[in-house]
Formats: sequence, C-alpha cells, structure tokens
Amino acid sequence: MAAVVAAAADLSLIAYGDVVAGCEQCALSQTRTQVVFGSGSPSAELMFVGEAPGFHEDKQGVPFVGAAGKLLGKLLEGIGMTREDVYIANVLKCRPPGNRDPLPEEIQACEGHLFRQIELIQPTLVATLGNFATKLLSGKPTGITQVHGREQQVVLGGNPVTLYPIFHPAAALYTPRMLQVLEEDFRRIPELLGREATPPPPPPAPLYAPEPVPEHSVQLGLF
Ligand code: URA
Repeated sequence: MAAVVAAAADLSLIAYGDVVAGCEQCALSQTRTQVVFGSGSPSAELMFVGEAPGFHEDKQGVPFVGAAGKLLGKLLEGIGMTREDVYIANVLKCRPPGNRDPLPEEIQACEGHLFRQIELIQPTLVATLGNFATKLLSGKPTGITQVHGREQQVVLGGNPVTLYPIFHPAAALYTPRMLQVLEEDFRRIPELLGREATPPPPPPAPLYAPEPVPEHSVQLGLF
C-alpha cells in the first residue's frame, strides 16, 4: 500500500512538472529557454534548494549541471550519496537574464511551485543553498553567514522538516575557506538524516500574561 501511495506521489510530481513547464507567472518566461523544474528522487528524504538556473541549467533543463553542480556532486559523493538519492530544485524555476539575483516579485510568483514540490516529495531534511533559499524557507531575514550549519525546525508542505542552511556551492568555488566550511557543514548531513524531524517549538510566552480570571467572577462582573 505504501508503495502505491509513493507511486501516486511520483506521478503527481511529474504531472505538476508538466504544468509548471508552461508557467507564465512572471517575465522570466519571456527570456528562458525552458523551465528547470527539479531532478532526482521524487521520494527523497533529502532535498537541496538552490537559487535559480544558470546558463547551462537553462539550456539542459536540469538544475545544478554547471560548475557549482559538479561541486555539489562531489560533496554528495563525500558523504556516500549521489544526485539520484536526493531531490534538487531551485527557488526560481527560470533563469534570470545574465544570472542576476532573483527579484522579489519573481520569488513571489515562483515560490508556490517550490512549496508544492516540497509537499509532494515530503523530505525530512531540506538543505538550503545560500541566502535566497534560506530566507524564503526559514521565513526569516537572517543571512546565510549567520545561520549556516545550524539546523532549524520548520513546517513545510504541512510536514515538520529539518531546515539546514549551508553556503551555496558557487560561493565556495573560488574561495578555499568557504569550501572548507561547506565541506564541514556537509559532513553533518548523514547525522541529520538519521534524526527524526520534530515540529518547531511553540512561540515564546508573552512577557506579561494577565492572571486567568475564574469563570464565576467574569459572570459576576457582567451584572
Ligand atoms: N545555481 C543555482 O542556484 N541553481 C542551479 O541550478 C545552478 C546554479
């Protein structure tokens, strides 16, 4: 039965990819070669979310196939995994011209696609690569330099998920110190995968909470 449910989820992801292939919700649809939906296992426990397709991704229709993608593949190899074991997607599904940063309105137009992917794949661990994915999926403005390597508990696609912000491989390509940090953060992934994702803690109690009023005194106060 579980296999049937999983197969249905796989089909839903493929069907959703077909819908997104024709997306025209923002101006990037005018300049892209094609939508880069995502790749990998539709039932992956571990999902990576990058920023946006670049030149090679736009041409091939597959995320992370350029230099940053090769590094991502090597990092995965280093922890005994392959691209086929995980699911890889981006915040934006279409290439911004000249690889410029995503615009707020583009993220807003596209974020529903990413949330739906997460809902269908149901990963337990989502590693966000760089600032854009981290800020979007954590719902917080804190940048990657402050939060990398520190897991957070969030709810995504209706499920508790461990969010794990790490540096974007593109940032580590030419900066040896950043590559070292990325490798260190990557080494924790197997441990995080073995861990059960737990719901996020409730928000902190207000500093001042009024004394609860006994029910009868409320009644008395009415008259
Ligand atoms: N950088 C990204 O963020 N995504 C890709 O797919 C390629 C490079």
